[in-house]
Amino acid sequence: MLDVLITRGYLVTMTGPGTGVMENGAIGFKGNQIVVVGKAPEVEREYKAHRFIDATNKAVLPGFIDAHIHTGIAIMRGLAQDVDHWMQKGLWPFAAGMTKESVLSGSLVNIIEGVKAGTTTFCDYNANMREIVKNHLLVGTRARVADEINEMPEKVSKQEVGELYPLDPAVGQAKLNESVKLIEEWHGQEGGRITCIFGPQGPDMLSRELLLEVQQLAEKYDSMIHMHVAQGDREIDQMVKRYGKRSIQYLEDLNCLNERLLAVHLTEATKEETQLLARRKAAMVLCSGSIGIIDGIVPPMAEFLEMSNRGALGSDQAPGNNCNNMFNEMKFTAILNKCRVRDPKVFPAWQVLRLATIDGARAIGLGDEVGSLEKGKKADIIMVDLTNPNLVPTISQPVRNLIPNLVYAARGNEVETVIIDGRFIVEDGKLNTVDEKEAALTALAKAAEMAEGAKENVLAQRPTLLRLTEEGYY
Ligand SMILES: [Zn+2]
Repeated sequence: MLDVLITRGYLVTMTGPGTGVMENGAIGFKGNQIVVVGKAPEVEREYKAHRFIDATNKAVLPGFIDAHIHTGIAIMRGLAQDVDHWMQKGLWPFAAGMTKESVLSGSLVNIIEGVKAGTTTFCDYNANMREIVKNHLLVGTRARVADEINEMPEKVSKQEVGELYPLDPAVGQAKLNESVKLIEEWHGQEGGRITCIFGPQGPDMLSRELLLEVQQLAEKYDSMIHMHVAQGDREIDQMVKRYGKRSIQYLEDLNCLNERLLAVHLTEATKEETQLLARRKAAMVLCSGSIGIIDGIVPPMAEFLEMSNRGALGSDQAPGNNCNNMFNEMKFTAILNKCRVRDPKVFPAWQVLRLATIDGARAIGLGDEVGSLEKGKKADIIMVDLTNPNLVPTISQPVRNLIPNLVYAARGNEVETVIIDGRFIVEDGKLNTVDEKEAALTALAKAAEMAEGAKENVLAQRPTLLRLTEEGYY
């Protein structure tokens, strides 16, 4: 007896070389595990279920993998775009006003935003992760979390652009200890739904010694390393000033380019650097919306995919993306890459859907558990209502338009049901686990406090934004 049988829908299994579409398909699960995937008539004949869901006119997909997200800075949504030097000039003046409460309330709303748009696995990468991880428990999401490790002193928000940051080994050691505690306390919790990896913030933000220590610990715990790499001209400038070489050569010389590395952005990486990373079997995360808005750059995922299938997508952050929705990421990834090389054939819909599901799952090291609809995998399943006006019509003969519609036309609000680890987290578009309205109202109140706390810094450091606000542009 199955717990749930979802049948007569368009199954997008993400098996095989493409998207593995099966019309009139059925999927059944028991507990947190998928038991059967097949054609509806046969599965309905062979299996009984406690709950039967008719998925006529619905697409049934594996939940999306957001391979890079900082939910802890979502409280600053909308405060750091249309600016150069995004981190120093955009983000840091506001970051000074954040408190533990504002971080946590923003994170909770951010996770709700993602899950309602079909994200089931979050690679959440932030400071204070031992607290933030509890939000994933509240919402019921699958999370692969990392606590950011850096050696940046507290007063870094006063740093001038171009100045070499001071690194403080005491800060680094404290943050490394936090990471180890996170792993010891949380890795494998909730029946394996929560996993923990290491998260050095970037090769420029911690010393060589500390990075090597992280690498050793990653071997000891058999963990991946989630890290920003070549994430902007700021990082390259710091690396050249401090070590006389660019980020990827530096990591190559330290033997840090390997299958443990989940390298994020590569905004400033050359083709040669990107392909060296691919040859060394590291994974790459592309954050198209974020890097488009904060840098005006299309990172070299095309070059990476020439050599590797370990590519993933991430929504990065809300202060400068400004949304955390994998439909948005898929669409931006396709459009920006087509525009970059003036060729509509590159980054076809089926390929970006793979990046957001099965390929992303493999890149983050969870390919055996999630990312496709297959017997034995975890029941992380979403259902998309194809009768939404923007998804009409669905055509099956002589060709299918389902995958292009999902990638180019869907917006996320068409996600009707989200199942994670066999549990119904979203039903009829409503979140079952957390009071969404209350979470939003709490975040609004905390954001006002954050803005008040950051006021002095913002007055001193964001004169252009102040003027544009006063003159009614923003
Ligand atoms: Zn990031």
